[in-house]
Amino acid sequence: MKKNWEQQRLEMVQKQIKARGIGDEKVLAAFLQVPRHLFVDPNVANEAYHDHPLGIGLGQTISQPYIVALMTAALQLNKHDRVLEIGTGSGYQTAILSCLVKKVYSIERLSPLIKEAQARLTNLGYHNIVFACQDGNDGWESEAPFDAITIAAATAKIPPKLLNQLKIGGRMILPLGSPFFQRLTLLHKKEDGYDINHLCGCSFVPLISENQ
Ligand code: SAH
Repeated sequence: MKKNWEQQRLEMVQKQIKARGIGDEKVLAAFLQVPRHLFVDPNVANEAYHDHPLGIGLGQTISQPYIVALMTAALQLNKHDRVLEIGTGSGYQTAILSCLVKKVYSIERLSPLIKEAQARLTNLGYHNIVFACQDGNDGWESEAPFDAITIAAATAKIPPKLLNQLKIGGRMILPLGSPFFQRLTLLHKKEDGYDINHLCGCSFVPLISENQ
């Protein structure tokens, strides 16, 4: 018999996330709650909990569950945090973040994707999220500084405006590298610069710069 969504979610959390070393109970609880199958095209919903990314249209992808978990856990979020997300895409990571923090500011440059994500997240009852359709490289100046920033698209260098909009003591996670291969990079901002840690290799769609 085909496993139901909750069983598939539980298996995803146990085999893909917990077994690979992510033990933060709040993060695991968020992955158990968010109905990932509702964030993908209905034609591929049966693959929503599989261990790989999936297409979401317009050449973009919803990341592999483990990578979303790794990025989320690395940010060490707490419930008072205000988080900036660049690359809303399907809104899946937005939903995960929404379970863990006070408010999510989510930016996406492709209007059909952000409209769909916003409708989906509102229907599912996630209310602590605001959206903007613009170039994420500019960040969200009027709402800065942020406790954490997550970038879901590949970039060769740390976007300077985003670094400026991060609090001292804040964390940023981003795929840093060439268009073909990046290193998932965690940055801790300090008074006099930042510390940097590379977590693993990864492959994301590019962070488009509107000014190029
Ligand atoms: N977190 C998403 C993954 C989205 S893929 C999810 O869980 O589904 C990366 C997204 O970044 C794409 O939707 C792409 O359109 C968007 N993107 C790329 N460059 C961008 C930019 N400069 N500003 C905002 N969004 C951008």
